[in-house]
Amino acid sequence: MKIISLMGATGSIGTQTLDVIREHPTEFKLAAISVGKNIDMARKIIVEFQPELVSVQDYHDCNTLKAEFPHIKLTYGNEGLIEIAVYEKADILVNAVLGSVGLNPTLQAIECGKTIAIANKETLVTAGHLVMDAAKRNNVSLLPVDSEHSAIFQALQGEKEKNIERLILTASGGSFRDRSRKELEHVTVQEALNHPNWSMGAKITIDSATMMNKGLEVIEAHWLFQIPYEKIDVLLHKESIIHSMVEFHDSSIMAQLGTPDMKVPIQYALTYPDRLPRLSANRLDLAQIGKLNFQEMDVERFRCLHFAYIAGKEGGTLPTVLNAANEAAVAAFLEGKIRFLQIEDLIEKALSNHQTIAHPSLAVIQEVDKETRQYVTSLL
Ligand code: NDP
Ligand code: MG
Repeated sequence: MKIISLMGATGSIGTQTLDVIREHPTEFKLAAISVGKNIDMARKIIVEFQPELVSVQDYHDCNTLKAEFPHIKLTYGNEGLIEIAVYEKADILVNAVLGSVGLNPTLQAIECGKTIAIANKETLVTAGHLVMDAAKRNNVSLLPVDSEHSAIFQALQGEKEKNIERLILTASGGSFRDRSRKELEHVTVQEALNHPNWSMGAKITIDSATMMNKGLEVIEAHWLFQIPYEKIDVLLHKESIIHSMVEFHDSSIMAQLGTPDMKVPIQYALTYPDRLPRLSANRLDLAQIGKLNFQEMDVERFRCLHFAYIAGKEGGTLPTVLNAANEAAVAAFLEGKIRFLQIEDLIEKALSNHQTIAHPSLAVIQEVDKETRQYVTSLL
């Protein structure tokens, strides 16, 4: 039985991780969870799964739950997140928290030698060099949960890195795939949250609409698979059936396919290198689908993808700025403070306002992250 620690249990990936655990009660045991502010859902998870350790974002919520569940160890805040990340009894940490707040707990978990199933892409984008260095030093596996990276990881099983010609990340195109830039000027939050293929958390759904999600994924792929940016391509594939591909030197291409269902890559990360049946899975019927579509990506139309390649290639603190500016701008859009296209304007301003610092330490990254959020807020 695998003992699991889960950061971000109340989120989209978090609740789907709980579904996977629920489906395989003899394979997995949930030992520790972190939640943010959704205390009602936290209560339900505690009652059902009886974790030993629970962390919440706020001190007051922590006290409330302590009174209700005196037999459970409760903790809170950023320190609480770290306690979940390094929980000694856990065999594997699922990091499904949102944003760069996941960075420090991830680094701490790596230092403790924990295997990590990582959904929290902002952590790899903001400080991929620190995460990968620490993972190498501690001989820790980072197992991708993001569907594209899980697809590439699966396609690479038994293959040698030296034979890779390029990675091909597929992109659905998000909520506004077929709209012109002109038509994007006045789109609403509600329209942006309406993704055609995937049901996800609010922030990543907006990231998909701006194509920043694919940009973050390009940087995530660069770090996870140690592949230069010149060898990472993005292909528009509106059905989200092929989750990504690897092309090898001999021109052979390996792809991973499936219906759009995050429980598949979540479960694969939990069972790797083994697999378990998924009884409730919605299986792929290619004959019924008939045909799949592909189209070249237009970087003029999706400027955020272009920004991500620039930030990734430059490296140093620029990806930190890209990520922090995006987190702040998307939050402002979701709060109705800015229009959709202002997200990319704010990111562009933050990038050009920054002097890149090479080989940044954790302290420098945290400082640049904070300054960038303040800068974006000052422009609102
Ligand atoms: P959600 O917004 O649905 O969930 C985020 C989780 O993080 C919630 O449990 C939330 O708590 C918690 N959280 C947020 N901020 C804090 C904080 N400051 N301190 C502690 N906890 C916090 O996000 P998703 O599940 O959609 O995404 C999670 C990560 O996975 C992201 O990095 C995303 O890019 C990545 N990902 C998601 C996919 C998806 O299908 N959703 C696909 C691939 C990757 P609460 O709700 O209780 O406040
Ligand atoms: Mg993805």
